Amino acid sequence: MPSTDLLVSCEHLVKVYDSPTGRVQAVRGVDLELPRGVKAAVVGPSGSGKSSLLRMVAGLDRPTAGLVTIAGTDLSALRPGRRARVRAELLTHVYQRPAANLLAHLTAYQQLDRIARPRRDRTVVVGDVLERLGLGHRVDHVPAALSGGEQQRLAFARAAVADHRLVIADEPTAQLDPDSAAAVLDTIDYLAERGTTVLIATHDHRVLGRLDEIVTLRDGAVASIVRGGTELAVIDRSGRLQLPPHVLEHFPERSARLDWDGESLSVDPP
Ligand code: ADP
Repeated sequence: MPSTDLLVSCEHLVKVYDSPTGRVQAVRGVDLELPRGVKAAVVGPSGSGKSSLLRMVAGLDRPTAGLVTIAGTDLSALRPGRRARVRAELLTHVYQRPAANLLAHLTAYQQLDRIARPRRDRTVVVGDVLERLGLGHRVDHVPAALSGGEQQRLAFARAAVADHRLVIADEPTAQLDPDSAAAVLDTIDYLAERGTTVLIATHDHRVLGRLDEIVTLRDGAVASIVRGGTELAVIDRSGRLQLPPHVLEHFPERSARLDWDGESLSVDPP
């Protein structure tokens, strides 16, 4: 991957919350790199740190330690006003509840027109995007007159007209029927083809097969990465190798014999 193609970089990201019942280590040293135009999902059981990770990548929450950069910018280092402006230039955030992403009193056309990057042909661009996403017959409808799936497509479409480089979405298909979820995935494909990176947290197995990269979190750490259909074990910056759960169960002693023959490494129970 050429370094110029790197959009999101997380370096040893840590998030600790101080709560009345004690300290919670929600994210424990996550390293993650996403190039331009990649469709990635963060999966893992409830409480594994997905939302905490997404909030830090989106610049909504400051890491306790470590660094997130988007297109080389560390959002957490910016003053609040500047951070809000840079976020508005860089990224679209899509929430699980479709209505939460849109302004109730604006039509589909107006939702996009108000954020379209100013350019002479912006009328054409907004109309084209709506047409391309199958919403051409919905331009004059307010969110309440749209289905949940149409609202979510519109929420993602904001990234196309605003020319955003990144979309972050928390469980975007959780409330949708299969057809609507598939249409949202078509919208995600459209954005990725335009070079937008899409990072979603999801429990929805219907969507995983259509994404490029699936990052599984367990207890706040990356347990495995599936890239292009191949499962990869993660080696952190200290050289620690993380085995996926179905392999780990063959190592009850929690130790391993390593044999490196110069080309390949075998990891066996002792
Ligand atoms: P997920 O999105 O995978 O369900 P979260 O990132 O929401 O995981 O939560 C990870 C852990 O951090 C959980 O134990 C959760 O209870 C805790 N947590 C999340 N947000 C806060 C907060 N604001 N204050 C205290 N603990 C939190």
